[in-house]
Amino acid sequence: MILPVLFVIWFHVSEFKGRANFILQFLCTATFIGYTWVVGAQSWSSILIGFVIVLAFVLSVSTKIRRLPKKWGFRIESGWKDITFVITQSLILILFLPIVLFGLMGYSIDGSSDKSAIDLNFPLDQGVYIVGHGGSNPLINYHNVHDIQTYALDISKLNFLGIRALGIYPSELDKYAIFGDNLYSPCDGKILKVDKGYEDLEPPKRGEGHPAGNHVVVQCEDAEITLAHMKENSIVVDTLDTVEVGDLLGKVGNSGNTTEPHLHIHAAKDGKGIPVTFNNRFLVRNSIVWK
Ligand SMILES: [Zn+2]
Repeated sequence: MILPVLFVIWFHVSEFKGRANFILQFLCTATFIGYTWVVGAQSWSSILIGFVIVLAFVLSVSTKIRRLPKKWGFRIESGWKDITFVITQSLILILFLPIVLFGLMGYSIDGSSDKSAIDLNFPLDQGVYIVGHGGSNPLINYHNVHDIQTYALDISKLNFLGIRALGIYPSELDKYAIFGDNLYSPCDGKILKVDKGYEDLEPPKRGEGHPAGNHVVVQCEDAEITLAHMKENSIVVDTLDTVEVGDLLGKVGNSGNTTEPHLHIHAAKDGKGIPVTFNNRFLVRNSIVWK
């Protein structure tokens, strides 16, 4: 959060002696801000600050662009200082641009036909939700390397400050905005499995040995949807129950092998992870869902 602010300030106070200097520093700043949105987790620092940084950069660009020098080439009149700037900016660009582009590749479901996505209803409806892990490559979704969880999502909720919790990493569960939110069936289907009886753990404690904690598996069409880490004693459905979209399943908790309260959801068909879209949207890291 501090670094992108410094980048924008650096951009704003710079005097561009040539248009090439402007373009280089523009690309460098835009790439770094892009990095914080594609790869970084906005829910940790406050998405509101994230928006302010983007806005400040846009405003700064719009004022600078009106006062550009006529000359196109690099101007490095003040010697080593300018040369160092150009080299530093080029290095930042070379380092971060490929990472951002690789992250963006995870925004689409890759093309092979056996990976046709299932469309579900978003299972939460009490605020503004944000995706922590989601997308189709491991840079933006750590689940991606696991066969059955390839397209799994970890979802948090934003509080009034645009952060997922009050505090950086509090141990009190109710400081996490999503803790205790109702969880609804994402489809018309059948309950295939209910596993319960696990306690909610205070971060950073993790439940080893039962990774999903309290969880429900719902059959939606021919896919199995797992909703994991649910709240202790909150599950209100039983195995073989028939459910309709929007029926209450239980609440979001922090049971199982989890770092903090969140909803983990994934879909699988024949033991393989398949992509999920929610109301026809493929969600990736920092996607926001308003409910
Ligand atoms: Zn997960």
